[in-house]
Amino acid sequence: MSNPKPEELVRIDYRPPARDWMDPAVEFRKGTFCYSALPKSLKYLGLPNPREWQPFDKDWKLPPDWKRIILDGMKERLEKFRSFRLFMDICVRCGACADKCHFYIGSGDPKNMPVLRAELMRSVYRRYFTSAGRMFGKLAGARDLTEDVLKEWFYYFYQCTECRRCSVFCPYGIDTAEVTMIGRELLNLVGCNINWVLEPAANCFRTGNHLGVQPHGFKDSIDFAVDELEEITGVRVEAPINKKGAEILFIVPSADYFGTPHYFTLLGYLLLFHEIGLDYTFSAFASEGGNFGLFSSHEMIKRLNAKVYAEAKRLGVKWIIGGECGHMWRVLHQYMDTMNGPADFLEAPVSPITGTRFENARSTRMVHICEFTADLIHHRKLKLDPSRNDRWRVTFHDSCNPARAMGLFEEPRYVLRNVCNHFHEMPENTIREQTFCCGSGSGLGTDENFEMRMRGGLPRANAVKYVRDKYGVNMLACICAIDKATLPPLFDYWVPGIEVAGVHELVGNALVLKDGRERTTDLRGEPLHEEKPEEAHA
Ligand code: SF4
Ligand code: SF4
Repeated sequence: MSNPKPEELVRIDYRPPARDWMDPAVEFRKGTFCYSALPKSLKYLGLPNPREWQPFDKDWKLPPDWKRIILDGMKERLEKFRSFRLFMDICVRCGACADKCHFYIGSGDPKNMPVLRAELMRSVYRRYFTSAGRMFGKLAGARDLTEDVLKEWFYYFYQCTECRRCSVFCPYGIDTAEVTMIGRELLNLVGCNINWVLEPAANCFRTGNHLGVQPHGFKDSIDFAVDELEEITGVRVEAPINKKGAEILFIVPSADYFGTPHYFTLLGYLLLFHEIGLDYTFSAFASEGGNFGLFSSHEMIKRLNAKVYAEAKRLGVKWIIGGECGHMWRVLHQYMDTMNGPADFLEAPVSPITGTRFENARSTRMVHICEFTADLIHHRKLKLDPSRNDRWRVTFHDSCNPARAMGLFEEPRYVLRNVCNHFHEMPENTIREQTFCCGSGSGLGTDENFEMRMRGGLPRANAVKYVRDKYGVNMLACICAIDKATLPPLFDYWVPGIEVAGVHELVGNALVLKDGRERTTDLRGEPLHEEKPEEAHA
């Protein structure tokens, strides 16, 4: 079956379905769900019930006591996570979140309203953990935990990208992403997980990165980037790996050295660090900042994140800089310190170039590359020629996690305004904390899930279409590896003519090197356009 065309997909039916929401039956229709995890990935990670199965199978081969396992798991988490119990209890069903989820906007399926997504879990909570639910059952909004309910959880908790947009609008601050996270944890207990989450997690566990690249492959890729930069700029940069005693450990998402357009961001970092003479090192083991544990369980987050501090300690660095990645930063900013810290063997980060003390990173000892670069620009430590990016009319997509999980709104914009002459914001209700997700985050960026991804990405694509049509925007900059992978196909589908780049690719283009020769191409190897583009068309 071929993928639906945009003109078909855009006809969204928002009429409520005739079926009662309590009916859990789900149709696993091709294009709207992700395939199950391969047993070998579960085995690598020591997860329960590895087996061959698929969501569309009638028999999911659950363990005989699956129901007890789920309810025990729920009880344990209700006791452990106060937020979970609170989110189960306090929703007043005001509906403020209902139309805020990109999956609801793009699909019209009411079970993709955050309130109803969480209600799939709450109904079971009421049935087994509240007196009203035990006594009055359906009348109190309670449902028995059945295999159909479990299947429904799987379908809808893997149609949530854990983007947290809904939480911005909830008067009680209910974070449905956290309900999804618990839902996925519970599903894990009986071996129901998706491959695009567990395979990267298993690879990370074995080799330090999602792609399963061995240390020599990592080194080859960095060496290749160094050679390529020499061809473009005439300058040979150093890119140290595992250098003991370096001042700073630099950790990026592995897509930066193997994906496109991510790779051009890597070239940008390398040029920047060369220009300022930074004493830094990569690690061949912490060769991945991304953490697919976030999409699996708290335990998995902790296990995969441990390498960051372990490598910082082994290499004897003073502090850490992290590259352009979305969920990596949610983990680093919100979980790392409590899960794997305190990192009291590191120093509070101070820029060796400007002397700025990054007070915000005093505890984690890890600074975002955009914070670091914005500070360099602010202190006039970089010579920049923004006209080298003149062929681009740029907009900025706030990636969900750096935006909503760490409030990183201004630094990337400050950098972009200094390295580009043509920058245009998307509409206000689609940026900063209200940003719309790419629709493919949290492990949902698979080919088999294409229709749902396109539906989920529709609101973001729509805002991009607005600035394309109004200002002639042809480039979207972002600071997330998943965005860089999933937005190009989304735009090809909904709004052709938009390229995607990392912020540091554009920095690398604009950077005038002290020892560089006249540049004739940008970091993509394409000729630099010096002429002034036409004025905006509207
Ligand atoms: S906005 Fe908050 S309280 Fe209102 S329905 Fe949504 S989750 Fe419940
Ligand atoms: S976290 Fe994002 S994807 Fe999940 S329900 Fe909320 S808005 Fe939708």
